[in-house]
Amino acid sequence: MDGPSDVWTSHALAAMDRAISEAGRATEHGDVPVGAALFDSATGAIVATAHNRREVDADPTAHAEVLALRAAAAQRGGWRMTGLSMAVTLEPCVMCAGALLNARESTAWCSARSI
Ligand SMILES: [Zn+2]
Repeated sequence: MDGPSDVWTSHALAAMDRAISEAGRATEHGDVPVGAALFDSATGAIVATAHNRREVDADPTAHAEVLALRAAAAQRGGWRMTGLSMAVTLEPCVMCAGALLNARESTAWCSARSI
């Protein structure tokens, strides 16, 4: 990932809209409303979206970011997310930040920071 940036690209803003929509879906099954959208950094094409599913899946790793990475990896047939960026509605936790780094995703755009 690159360092933090205050300049949002139009692709990142569009992806954040999708991530926010996904976040709302998490509340339908009692999960914390966090959503993520993985997109092509150059074209803005959405590659995968996901929302938190820890409660409904009884899976402590079912965070939106991890689920989006898994969906994209299955689609692409590989784990490298080079050239992709992620919009996520909440600053990634340690697990997700590690997953994003390991996936070689290029940039994470967060709408809110954890405190
Ligand atoms: Zn997480």
